[in-house]
Amino acid sequence: MEKNVGFIGLGAMGSPMAFNVRKNMPPDATLFIYDVLVDPAERLKAACETLGPVKIAKSPREVAENALTIISIVPAAQHVKAVYLDANSGVTAAKDATDVPTNSRRIYLECSTIDIATATSVGNSLKQAGMGTYVDSPVSGGVPAAERGALSFLLGLDSNSKDRSSSDRVLSTAHYMGSPSKIFHCGGLGKGLAAKLCNNYLSCTFLLANSEAMATGLRLGLDKHVLHKVIHESTGQNFMLDHVCPVPDVVPHAPSSNNYKLGFKAEMLVKDVGLAVDAANSVGIKPTIGEAAMNVYRQVAVDEEYQGRDGSIVYKFLGGPDN
Ligand code: NAD
Repeated sequence: MEKNVGFIGLGAMGSPMAFNVRKNMPPDATLFIYDVLVDPAERLKAACETLGPVKIAKSPREVAENALTIISIVPAAQHVKAVYLDANSGVTAAKDATDVPTNSRRIYLECSTIDIATATSVGNSLKQAGMGTYVDSPVSGGVPAAERGALSFLLGLDSNSKDRSSSDRVLSTAHYMGSPSKIFHCGGLGKGLAAKLCNNYLSCTFLLANSEAMATGLRLGLDKHVLHKVIHESTGQNFMLDHVCPVPDVVPHAPSSNNYKLGFKAEMLVKDVGLAVDAANSVGIKPTIGEAAMNVYRQVAVDEEYQGRDGSIVYKFLGGPDN
């Protein structure tokens, strides 16, 4: 049981992350997986057939009763609360681990992008219940980095933490899914999410700014490849335009070149910009650009034509041409 790992939430990010965990964890240990939907769990189990044992659990509670290292990545704060705090099926409902002296040895890497207050409260609840160490561990890099095992991890963990054994285990677990050079100690509980929300404030607003700039350029008669290269070599260069160019067939690996395949849903953009806007307001910083972006993303998220597609489809919503 000590070497077993649990993985909860097997969506666009969770599935490739869990696959890499199975690939890199001790081959004789078991990966326990759980999702509210049965299909993603069955698909992952089949994909991992040659890598080592995988068992589908019926609840987060069952995951926690079988693994001392638990990773979760679910859509939003209410799902994180359900996973950890539900009195019947949640992690806190798990019985004491039988083959270790106390279940305080559990560690949790909670990777969802949620608000700082929820993460802090769930982490403190687990601590008070003697259920182990919860670290907010949001990730960056999107689905491509999740597939390559090259995610950034922004850990709500102090590099001088006194609990060395838990810290070392958190780091080695993050190494299963992330680039060693991109695993950051951001401070104590909640600080990983603080860093994540600041980063997402930029990436989400850049996506809209890129879409507006490219749509303007194409309508002014510029060639899309020329404009992309000009910006890449000039002061407007940014990661989002390099990798998530919203104009189809400019960047082959961008969702737009793949019929806006997910990716990162427009609905998630509303959530992430909203979290960053709330965080800015909470410390007296006026988030002018974030508020404007949120108004646009809200309209995209409720438009049936664009639902379930990558958020870079905002380019189409704005009337951006293909050529
Ligand atoms: P997703 O909707 O593709 O997947 C979420 C999965 O969680 C689904 O399979 C869903 O069935 C499952 N789920 C929902 N409630 C659950 C519960 N109570 N218990 C167990 N499973 C549950 O979402 P995603 O794109 O994988 O994103 C997940 C989180 O990661 C979000 O917070 C998002 O903001 C963050 N994130 C996403 C990306 C990205 O590029 N997609 C990048 C970085 C961070």
